[in-house]
Amino acid sequence: MRITQLRQRLRDLGAKPCHEDRLLRGWSQVCSYDRAHSPAETFFPLALRNELPAIEAELHALACLRSEYPANGHGMDIINNHGSHDRSPSPTLSRIAGEGANVALRRFSNNEGVARLLVELADAQMVESVLLPRGGLCVSTQVGCAVGCVFCMSGRDGLLRQLGSAEIVAQVVLARRRRAVSKVVFMGMGEPAHNLDNVCEAIELLGTQGNIGHKNLVFSTVGDPRVFERLPRGKVKPALALSLHTTDAALRARLLPHAPQIAIEELVERAEAYARATGYPVQYQWTLLEGINDSDAELERIAQLLAGKYAIMNFIPFNEVEGLDYRRPSVERIAAMAHTLNQQGIYARIRDSAGQEVEGACGQLRARAVKAE
Ligand code: SF4
Repeated sequence: MRITQLRQRLRDLGAKPCHEDRLLRGWSQVCSYDRAHSPAETFFPLALRNELPAIEAELHALACLRSEYPANGHGMDIINNHGSHDRSPSPTLSRIAGEGANVALRRFSNNEGVARLLVELADAQMVESVLLPRGGLCVSTQVGCAVGCVFCMSGRDGLLRQLGSAEIVAQVVLARRRRAVSKVVFMGMGEPAHNLDNVCEAIELLGTQGNIGHKNLVFSTVGDPRVFERLPRGKVKPALALSLHTTDAALRARLLPHAPQIAIEELVERAEAYARATGYPVQYQWTLLEGINDSDAELERIAQLLAGKYAIMNFIPFNEVEGLDYRRPSVERIAAMAHTLNQQGIYARIRDSAGQEVEGACGQLRARAVKAE
């Protein structure tokens, strides 16, 4: 489902922009529709009120929890094979929304919860979301992925289907029923640039009615030229993450087989222009693979490429998984790489280890669930 379709449906039921906004705010923030001196039951037009339970049930079914890792802090999957997980009809949001938010804040009051969620969509397809430290959430934008990065499980079966913008926001709603979410990164399953209309629609809703700061919305791409045309035109301009992984064009073509073949220097220049225009640094993503992209020569080229740039280098040690024949460099080597860049004035950091354990192998949980069926 797309948010534009949802808006049209509301309009067909007599909703004006103020009604749409209040409903979308209540849904995306998991909060009550009621306002002081303006309860939802008198605020919404009658036709919309009558249809509300059906709309809420549909929104609820967009993204349901299939399993979680670690589950209840014990490191176990809890895949429910009986189809009863999180599919109960939703009571009206005007009653449950506020309660849900309170429960979430109680359970994760220190915001340190890190967990990978396997999310079932209404057509039984599955994607992954990841709860990150400090109120972060990583969401998927596609089922599968066409880029086919050799170190990623998500791209193994290619692209299965696009996610609608409402399905992307529904992942945030699902997470917010569990805890507060103040940052959303579009780095889960899928290449956001291959689903631009839906991702931009979701970003716009999250950055307005969804109450997420624009710099806390992070659009991740392997470097599709359409991104540099589209993002500057949006009402909500997200921060940009660029998956670089190497400075060697030939190696990059092997690691990211279906990424656009653009000169790396040009990619960096275009990302830099966007960063200067928005005021948020580019976050370069670099999955560290031992013996492949962890050499001194790579470090030298990174230092040249990013000198004076408004940029952060995120080193993400590869998370070793069955079926992928790569290894992560040693802890010492990873630390030395970050240190070398920092000494040369390039801000480099190693991705948070708490998040990395569940983050490092995007698509693994889904792959396991599909195999089990
Ligand atoms: S790393 Fe990202 S772009 Fe590459 S295959 Fe996986 S999901 Fe797609």
